[in-house]
Amino acid sequence: MHFLDQAKIFLKSGGGGPGAVSFRREKYIEYGGPDGGNGGKGGDIVFEAVQGLNTLIDFRYSQHFKAKRGNHGQGKDRTGAGADDLVIQVPVGTQILSEDKEDVLADFTEVGQRIVFLEGGMGGRGNASYKTSTNRAPRQHQPGEPGEEMWVWLRLKLLADVGLLGLPNAGKSTFINQVSNAKAKVGDYAFTTLVPKLGVVSHKNREFVIADIPGLIEGAAEGAGIGDRFLGHIERCRVLIHLIDIAGTDPVEAMRIVEDELAAYGAGLDDKPRLVALNKLDLADAELGEGFADELIAAGADKVFRLSGATGAGVENLLDAVLSYLPDRTSTETKASEVEDEDAAPDSWSPY
Ligand code: GDP
Ligand code: MG
Repeated sequence: MHFLDQAKIFLKSGGGGPGAVSFRREKYIEYGGPDGGNGGKGGDIVFEAVQGLNTLIDFRYSQHFKAKRGNHGQGKDRTGAGADDLVIQVPVGTQILSEDKEDVLADFTEVGQRIVFLEGGMGGRGNASYKTSTNRAPRQHQPGEPGEEMWVWLRLKLLADVGLLGLPNAGKSTFINQVSNAKAKVGDYAFTTLVPKLGVVSHKNREFVIADIPGLIEGAAEGAGIGDRFLGHIERCRVLIHLIDIAGTDPVEAMRIVEDELAAYGAGLDDKPRLVALNKLDLADAELGEGFADELIAAGADKVFRLSGATGAGVENLLDAVLSYLPDRTSTETKASEVEDEDAAPDSWSPY
C-alpha cells in the first residue's frame, strides 16, 4: 500500500562559497591592492506546511534533500551569490523528530507555517577583508562554512478527509479494509471503540484518509467522552459516506436513524455532504437494490450508490465521487527540481 505516516529523510544545508584571493590589476598601477570578495551563503533547509497534502508519500521517492552551495567570491570585491533555500513542503500535522525519535524538533499545526530548519553555511572571507595597514597584500582567505546535515523522521498525525457512517453491521469495517490500508476489525458485534479507525485510500493517484467513526455518533451526541482528536476528524471531513445494509434493517429506517444522530451531534456534521451507498449488494438481486435505491431517494438521498464492500463491486464509482469533494493538490508538490536524489536510498520508510 502506497502510504506512509512516517518517513526518514536526510537533510543538508548548503555550504558557504569560498572567499576569493585576487589583486587589482589596473593600467599603470603596478601592485593593486587585494580585491577578493567573500563567498556567498549556502542555501537553508526550510520546511513549510501546506494545504492539500494528506500523507508523507512523496518522501518515499525523495529522501535526500540538499540545498546548494554558495558561489565563490570573485575579484573586484564581488561577493559570491547566495544559494537558494530548499523549501520542503509537508502536510499540516507533520512533526519533525530527531533520528532516535526522542525529540520533537518541529511541529506544524497551521497552513503557511515555515521554519528554517538548517542554516546554510556562511561564505568564506575573501582576501580583501584581510587587508590591514601592515599587510597590504594578504593572501589569506577562508573556505566557506560547511552546511549542516542530519537525518530526521517526519511523522504525520492523520486526520480524516472522509467520514464513514452507518448502523452497526452496515459493513463499515469491511469497506474500509477493502478500499484502504487499514486493518479494521470485522465482526458481527454492535459496539465499537471511541477511537476512529483510519485508513488511507489511494485512488487515481490521489490519497485521502477515511475514518470509520461509527459508535462515535451513538452516545457521542449525548456528549459521552469525545476527545479533541475526534472533533478534529469531524471538522476536517469533506464528505461523509453513509453505508446502508441492504440485508439489514429497512434501509429507509436505517438512513433516518443515522441522519437523526447526525443532526443531534451538531459540530457541523449535519452540514457535510453525504454519499449514500447501499452495501452488501452481493446478497441481493439487482432489482431489490434498485427498489431500495428509489425508496432512499424518495426519502431524501440525492443519489444512491450500490456496492459490495466485501467483493469490491461498485466501490470505484463511490471513490470517484469522493475525489470530487477533495481539495486539489496541484501546486503542493515538493520543489523536485531542487532535490538531489541519491541512488543508495536507505530502507527508511515504513508502511502505515
Ligand atoms: P461494521 O459494524 O459496520 O463495521 O460492519 P462489519 O464490516 O464489521 O461487517 C458486519 C458483518 O457484515 C460482517 O459479518 C461482515 O462479514 C459482513 N459484511 C460486510 N460487508 C459485506 C458485504 O459487502 N457483503 C456481505 N455479504 N457481507 C458483508
Ligand atoms: Mg466495524
